[in-house]
Amino acid sequence: MAEKSLDDTRTFATMVAAKQGWELNPDAEFTDSLLEGLTVNWNRYGYFLCPCRDTEGSREDDAAVVCPCTFSHADIADYGHCYCGLYLKAGFSASGKVPGGIPDRRFSKS
Ligand code: SF4
Repeated sequence: MAEKSLDDTRTFATMVAAKQGWELNPDAEFTDSLLEGLTVNWNRYGYFLCPCRDTEGSREDDAAVVCPCTFSHADIADYGHCYCGLYLKAGFSASGKVPGGIPDRRFSKS
């Protein structure tokens, strides 16, 4: 599988945001650190494992947390941003808000 560069991952994340009607976090340094994490995970595991979560050991067990994770829509609807803070609801940053810590739904029973 071809290695991905940071720019490849940035293109991917930009396309995801455009498709979903989300925004990328405008904090360039923070966003770059997450994109770097996604890039490292792609090159290590072969899929975009969420940069804020640990692998459970296989693609099957990580399926819910391959970016954009299955929780991103609910988190963005409820909190205005995904768990990592990479993707934001449209208008979130324009309103002056910044992403904060939110619960991880991955192992949540509710
Ligand atoms: S929380 Fe979800 S959408 Fe956000 S970076 Fe991680 S996998 Fe991607």
